Amino acid sequence: MSIFKNPGGQRNAGPKCEMCRTVIYGEETVIARQKRAVYVNLNPFEAQQIEQKSGYRCTSCRREYCKDCLEKKAPGNIYGGKSCPRCGGRFEIMHG
Ligand SMILES: [Zn+2]
Ligand SMILES: [Zn+2]
Repeated sequence: MSIFKNPGGQRNAGPKCEMCRTVIYGEETVIARQKRAVYVNLNPFEAQQIEQKSGYRCTSCRREYCKDCLEKKAPGNIYGGKSCPRCGGRFEIMHG
């Protein structure tokens, strides 16, 4: 039994960031991969990088972005979060 869906492998069919086209991960996958980075690979820096690939989905236009792009490029909103660069909608974290 493993909590990791695909140990060491590449996911080809996963969702991609609308801006940078890198593969993004749902919250549960990010947590699983971070655990592996810290406890198996002993690499907290890798865990940080995985965090930046967390996926967020616009609740209005359904476009998906990585955390990294949102932090660097998306406009802020009055709630202290980020707004969708395309439609100004709010984001929800992706799961899976
Ligand atoms: Zn991105
Ligand atoms: Zn949007």
